Amino acid sequence: MASLNPSKRSEYNKRWREANKEKISERNKKWREANKEKVSSYNKQWREENKERIAQRNLKYRIENNEILKERNRKWYKEHRDEQTKKMRDRFHNQTEQEREHWNKIQSTNKRMRKLVKRKFIRDSKIGKKCNTCGFICKDPATHDYHHVKGKKLMAIAQMSSNDYSLEAIKKEIKKCILLCRNCHAVTYKKSKDYLN
Ligand SMILES: [Zn+2]
Repeated sequence: MASLNPSKRSEYNKRWREANKEKISERNKKWREANKEKVSSYNKQWREENKERIAQRNLKYRIENNEILKERNRKWYKEHRDEQTKKMRDRFHNQTEQEREHWNKIQSTNKRMRKLVKRKFIRDSKIGKKCNTCGFICKDPATHDYHHVKGKKLMAIAQMSSNDYSLEAIKKEIKKCILLCRNCHAVTYKKSKDYLN
């Protein structure tokens, strides 16, 4: 080893690590087990310092994997329904003020999550599509709007995500609309409201 130059040494080390992967992982595991408290306090500190980053990452993961996670939850719940119902009932009746607060926080995070998932769906559904009037292709969702042309209008599509409508209801409502760029939407809107003409 002493005769190796730095780049060769790093290459050698890398190869050694590749070849001894299991040995290293075993050794690390043992070390972590022997230093449990150290590890847990370090992890805790790291989480505390990176709270924002972790929340962002989790949120991004949940939005991108919404369907998979939903299916996994559904399956888990189906298998654990009875015990889960009893657990939830007990917990609800015996919850402390602190638990109630915690529960409310989870509920509001979930609500926020649902809203973001729907908003992302609406945004993604516009990308690459053309304005129905001028043909301008949507590259950024901010440049195009859904405009109702068929059936009875429930409300603006963007508003539906805020009002916690289901994804199914949103899809159904989108079917009543055409996509217009902001320019054409403004002209269409003006025409419909312009009593001077
Ligand atoms: Zn247009």
